[in-house]
Amino acid sequence: MSNTPYDLMIFGAGPAGITAALYGQRLGLKTIVFGDIPGGSSYMIEHLANFPGLMEGTSGTQFGTMAFQQAHKEGANFTLTRLESISRNDNIFIGVDVDGQEHTALSAIAATGRVPKRLAVSNANMRGVHFCSICDGPLYRGKNATLAVVGSDNTAAQHALTLARTADKVLLICRSNSLQMDAVHEDQIKQQNNITLMVNTEVFGYSGQEFVESIEVAAKDKGRQDLAVDGIFLAIGWRPNISALKFEVQKTAEGYLETNEKLMTSLPGLFAAGDVRDTDMWQVLTACADGARAAKYAAEYLEKLIR
Ligand SMILES: Cc1cc2nc3c(=O)[nH]c(=O)nc-3n(C[C@H](O)[C@H](O)[C@H](O)COP(=O)(O)OP(=O)(O)OC[C@H]3O[C@@H](n4cnc5c(N)ncnc54)[C@H](O)[C@@H]3O)c2cc1C
Repeated sequence: MSNTPYDLMIFGAGPAGITAALYGQRLGLKTIVFGDIPGGSSYMIEHLANFPGLMEGTSGTQFGTMAFQQAHKEGANFTLTRLESISRNDNIFIGVDVDGQEHTALSAIAATGRVPKRLAVSNANMRGVHFCSICDGPLYRGKNATLAVVGSDNTAAQHALTLARTADKVLLICRSNSLQMDAVHEDQIKQQNNITLMVNTEVFGYSGQEFVESIEVAAKDKGRQDLAVDGIFLAIGWRPNISALKFEVQKTAEGYLETNEKLMTSLPGLFAAGDVRDTDMWQVLTACADGARAAKYAAEYLEKLIR
């Protein structure tokens, strides 16, 4: 274990964690960041939308790399590994990395984001089931593929539109009878002639030898049928990344970290930023804003702690 604790330990190197690191350093806090991918989930974004000043064409990977380099240049100490566990003892946060090494800090920011859910169906973990069209869509290029996208929101729309560029046919399967996406996405989906919209339709299972070859679906009031597909992309919701937290802290029923107006959790000194907290917007911009504010309030907390 290192002897001198850091002022601030950040876990997660997505937009929230990187921005918290940038602000933490500029506020004079000795900061350490743990994370697997610089930019976190933003690597899945083909064209980053809804970020003022960044025109269409900037990818999430470019954004994440630039933000990472900026925080690094500012002096933030990044270790590109995950934390296996985070506990707290006598007001000190203790993070254990994948090599079993302990790191300590007086305050901490959870910025670990969230991960996509799987369907609770037969063969749920079969090969050919994906979550990121930008990452895995190219696997089907030039293969006359039929791909299914399951979901009804903006993420489902983005997957369907991305895949429609390389697949022969995309089936957009929504359990509800209406789409939950914004009007721009809905228009784009309806204008794309190789996307078939299947509302009121539920998926009950996947089958195939090694890879998914077909899915079993049923439209409302109709019997089940098998649809031949070459791959399936899920956009059916998320769960927060909180498994490393080894202490009691208040969470929502879905497991998101509850925070007060200063982004502090119920555990003094632990702040939460971005998609892992009980927020109402899951965007790069709001994650960055959370990161900045969490670092500011961590500095305020530390000032009171040592006074
Ligand atoms: C397909 C897709 C398209 C999107 N398009 C847009 C868009 O156009 N515009 C927009 O604004 N938003 C978009 N988003 C949403 C945006 O990517 C997220 O809101 C944003 O990345 C959240 O940032 P975050 O830092 O809170 O979490 P994340 O980006 O999820 O980063 C958290 C990181 O922490 C890591 N982590 C988890 N546990 C640990 C641990 N124990 N130790 C260390 N690290 C850990 C995770 O692996 C992850 O890398 C999109 C998302 C997806 C999936």
